[in-house]
This record gives sequence, structure tokens and C-alpha cells, in this order.
Amino acid sequence: RIISGDSSTTEEISLEKSLRPHYLAEYIGQEKVKRELSIYIEAAKNREEALDHVLLYGPPGLGKTTMAMVISNEMDVAIRTTSGPAIEKAGDLVALLNELEAGDVLFIDEIHRMPRLVEEMLYSAMEDYFVDIIVGQGPTAHPVHFPLPPFTLVGATTRAGLLSAPLRDRFGIVSHMEYYTVEELSDIVLRSADIFNTEIIESGAIEIARRSRGTPRVANRLLKRVRDYAQVESNGVIKKQIADEALAMLRIDQEGLDFVDQKLLKTMIENYHGGPVGLSTIAANIGEEIETIEDMVEPYLLQAGFLQRTPRGRIVTHMGYTHLGYPITYTD
Ligand code: ADP
Repeated sequence: RIISGDSSTTEEISLEKSLRPHYLAEYIGQEKVKRELSIYIEAAKNREEALDHVLLYGPPGLGKTTMAMVISNEMDVAIRTTSGPAIEKAGDLVALLNELEAGDVLFIDEIHRMPRLVEEMLYSAMEDYFVDIIVGQGPTAHPVHFPLPPFTLVGATTRAGLLSAPLRDRFGIVSHMEYYTVEELSDIVLRSADIFNTEIIESGAIEIARRSRGTPRVANRLLKRVRDYAQVESNGVIKKQIADEALAMLRIDQEGLDFVDQKLLKTMIENYHGGPVGLSTIAANIGEEIETIEDMVEPYLLQAGFLQRTPRGRIVTHMGYTHLGYPITYTD
């Protein structure tokens, strides 16, 4: 699925690397987050202290990892990157912390997926820069106090509510990443096209931006596919019509919905009179994991106004019916 959230292939990882902005000035959009961070970064630098811990939350692909890297560049410190599920044992965390120098950034993606024991160990590391570890086994086991240099933890998660309160409370800076506007995404597409050395007309960039579900990762992926199409089917220049044709081939509709989004809305309309339907019922019907729907499919459908959340489940809005070509009074 071209619009899914993760970036697991080697090609995808190198694509993301080459397109990542390095400094706040190059980072397009997220004006509120950037303004706040720029103040805290400048203040910390003036005091020659580590920046306070930062929690970034929002849907996948909005630039959380990129922002963590920008923070380390702006602070002029090193960054170590890991993810919640990768830290399996307390020892893994100690090994990571042990490599940090004063002021460094430790970035933990999917921080809500850390094992409980690891999370609890992080509390003292974040608050007072130490961990207490038990060394040895049985009668010789004894605690060792392990001081750490001051460092900045940057945590990323899809929803702040997934974190336990004690962990969330230890972040001094909590920033919500928002979906991008079409103008911002269009600037991102133009910038990426420039890095790719691809000629693009502004109307082509806007067309890609409009169908990118407010998400830079999606915009960059679509740009790549449209670039291929322009190269083979035309003279390589990305124009609106070329973007249109390429996106139609990818079955991405005028609003940026792909076949999973469309299937979800259609199933709800045809089988459940548009809802209310519970998330688990929807998941079972369309053959996707509940978590995938919650993190990657539903947030954009809610934000764009095709879906609504009610206490009794999700419902398809009038806009959702109209967009998929069903009369609002449709019943099967
Ligand atoms: P997340 O960590 O939130 O899933 P990433 O930081 O990995 O998202 O961003 C996904 C892709 O989008 C990266 O390739 C990055 O280059 C691009 N990107 C994200 N935010 C921006 C931005 N503000 N300006 C330009 N490119 C961006």
C-alpha cells in the first residue's frame, strides 16, 4: 500500500534519508512546533545545557523522526536512534545510555511500545540522569548506581494518550504534529523534485500535494511514482495531467483515498448502513489490523470529514457517501 505509514525497504530508507531537511529553516510547515522548539533550543544553547526532553506525537509520516534529527543538528550534538520495541531488556537501555555524551539526543520512535521494566528505568534517567542497575545474580547480586551525562530524550508516538502518565509527565516539551496543508505539501514536493533533479510544473506539484493525505512521506512516495510515469509516458516533466494519470493508475482518487480507505467506507455503507460500527468489526470485515486502521487509515478519514467518531462507533458522513457516489439515503 503506497500510503501506509512505515518505511521498511532499503530503497525507502535511502529515499527518506536523501529528502530529510537538516535544520529548522529548511523544515517546511509545523509552524507552531518549530516556533516553540526554536525558542527552547536557543535558550538551552545560551545556557549551555541539554535541551529538555521532547515528546512528538502525531500520525506516521508527518516528520517526527526528521524533527528529532533537526533538533540534534540545531543543538549541534550527536543523535542515537532506536525504537520502543527494539529495547527489549533493561540492559539494552543501559547500553544506549552509556554511549551518550553531554547534551546528546536519544531518539526513541514508537516510545509507547517499550517494555514496562525499561520504561520504569527511564524515569530516573530522564529526571535525575542516573539509573540503578542490579549487577550479578543470587546472593552476590547488588545494586550499582550509574550516573549519566545530561541528555535529551526525544520520544515519538502516534497518540500521546498511548503513553502512561508517569512517562508523559517527564517530557518538558510536548508537541503535536499536525497534517500539512496542500500549500506546504506542494513546497515539499517541489523541494524533493529539485533534489531528484526532476522538472515539475507547479500545478503538477499541487496535484500530488492534494492527494497526499496531509502527509510528507506520502507526498514523496507519490512524487517518485509520478516521476517514473512522466519519464516513460511523456518527456519527464511533471505536469498536472501527468500527475493525474499516474495517480489514477495507482488507484488513488481525487481526495487521496486509496483502495483500503475506499473499501472501509464502502463496507460501512453497504453492510452497516454507514454505521455506527465498532472498530473491531470494521477491521474484521476489511481484513486489516485494528492498530493499522487506528493509526494509519482512520485519522485522515476523520480529519478530512469522511468519517465521524461517536460513542457507539464510527459513522460515514454525508460527505463520505457523496464522495463514493452513494445517495445519502442509500440502504442495501
Ligand atoms: P515520522 O517519523 O513522523 O513517521 P519522518 O520524519 O520519517 O516521519 O518523515 C517522513 C518523510 O517525510 C521523510 O522522508 C522526510 O524527508 C519527509 N518530511 C517530513 N517532514 C518534512 C518537512 N517538514 N519538510 C520536508 N520533508 C519532510
